[in-house]
Amino acid sequence: MKADIHPKYSNTTIKCACGNVIEIGSTKSNIRVEICSKCHPFFTGKQKLIDTAGRIERFRKKYEKFQK
Ligand SMILES: [Zn+2]
Repeated sequence: MKADIHPKYSNTTIKCACGNVIEIGSTKSNIRVEICSKCHPFFTGKQKLIDTAGRIERFRKKYEKFQK
């Protein structure tokens, strides 16, 4: 029997460039992102997004799991 062939799945944090920290379960650790749901213009409303609905939808799906 081979042991430890699967990466460890544990809680880790995603650190955003804006300073926001999101806790998730992941096989990776110390994940860093440049933008998150807290600082993205779509959520902050500080910047107008000229974009299609499709791209926004993809963005929301991408970050949905980070919110839970
Ligand atoms: Zn951020």
